[in-house]
Amino acid sequence: MHIVHIAVEMAPIAKVGGLGDVVTSLSRAVQDLNHNVDIILPKYDCLNLSNVKDFQYQKNYFWGGTEIKVWNGKVEGLSVYFLEPQNGFFWAGCIYGCKNDAERFGFFCHAALEFLHQFGYHPDVIHCHDWSSAPVAWLFKDHYTHYGLSKTRIVFTIHNLEFGVHSIAKAMACSHKATTVSPTYSKEIAGNPAIAPHLQKFHGIINGIDPDIWDPYEDKFIPVSYTSENVVEGKRAAKEALQQRLGLKKADLPLVGVITRLTHQKGIHLIKHAIWKTLERNGQVVLLGSAPDPRIQNDFVNLANQLHSTHADRARLCLTYDEPLSHLIYAGADFILVPSIFEPCGLTQLTAMRYGSIPVVRKTGGLYDTVFDVDHDKERAEAQGLEPNGFNFDGADAAGVDHALNRAISAWYDSRDWFNSLCKTVMEQDWSWNRPALDYMELYHAARK
Ligand code: ADP
Repeated sequence: MHIVHIAVEMAPIAKVGGLGDVVTSLSRAVQDLNHNVDIILPKYDCLNLSNVKDFQYQKNYFWGGTEIKVWNGKVEGLSVYFLEPQNGFFWAGCIYGCKNDAERFGFFCHAALEFLHQFGYHPDVIHCHDWSSAPVAWLFKDHYTHYGLSKTRIVFTIHNLEFGVHSIAKAMACSHKATTVSPTYSKEIAGNPAIAPHLQKFHGIINGIDPDIWDPYEDKFIPVSYTSENVVEGKRAAKEALQQRLGLKKADLPLVGVITRLTHQKGIHLIKHAIWKTLERNGQVVLLGSAPDPRIQNDFVNLANQLHSTHADRARLCLTYDEPLSHLIYAGADFILVPSIFEPCGLTQLTAMRYGSIPVVRKTGGLYDTVFDVDHDKERAEAQGLEPNGFNFDGADAAGVDHALNRAISAWYDSRDWFNSLCKTVMEQDWSWNRPALDYMELYHAARK
């Protein structure tokens, strides 16, 4: 089968959040199943081209009153077409955040369909993502079904309903199949007017992570390679490197990591509370996050300053986006906290487990589907063929997060043997795309029927 993703994010060259990870890792998993996958991406001026192999100019075409140059290259083994309209649309210095985001992404979507049409590509499936490439669904329906693309099917994935719900309603109506990124989130949003009329074609498929991209055995950003067999030594070395790098006290203390966009979705008040609670329990805390909203960023700058004067040896807030540091935190932390108010899937808890860190999460969306509490969820885990793998809580107040974090930190202090065996257990669970890629293939086939 030939699948083309039309997307505005792709890890690691143009990543803002989970969408970028999913485009790359789902594509790689489907390609590994011997299908043919291409990705069409805008050629931003801020692309990280050092991660593109064989990057070269390919051809041009004209559409929308402008010349569009097409570049091609390989990213993580995937074939990517980069569209560069000569009207300056994408020379933006950022992926999102321009005043004309909707207009330039709308233009990009149409230009991508036109590229397929003009050069005679007839994929079996075009897969588009969230509001930013949602226009593909209705532009396809309005303009392309009577051309050579008539047998092509449109699959639309909602990574986060909060963004662009109007575009999403339109794309839901025009796509052949639609998905969201976990079964629980699909239930949580089923009543939304954008979704409710289309439940028959709507499916929740959990995201995976790419085990080659996130691999503590091959990770150049951590000091000692490890697998589940030497998880204790590997994580100890990573914790010491993390403490050293951030100027924290080199001590054997429970370390809580948070890696997140700082937005209300991610449970900012719970994150703040958890920082103080961890310090109160004599733990260390490292937060890596950046806030698109300057008021939130400022708020965290103030908190960072306050912590610097009161707990410089046990707390560090790194208010930036830093991929290499994220690897060291995943490896060096004992716990990764994800207290989201809502979470369509969440990748951080899955990556945490790949590195033998224990997730502490709020029970919502994909966090509910992937984290099973060691004290409360044995049966629910068994139903999935899994051992319990973390700590979770209900509610969106301090008491909830306390309930999970207190148990987690107490477990660390009370029985290191038990804690270490839990680290080994979570590392051995398979949160890759192995299973979800098969589910997507089934969906692509169903779309073709
Ligand atoms: P969302 O897409 O809502 O931001 P996900 O959990 O699906 O949340 O994906 C977040 C991804 O972005 C993860 O791969 C995480 O490691 C990464 N990430 C988030 N914030 C940062 C940051 N400040 N620096 C580096 N990586 C980050």
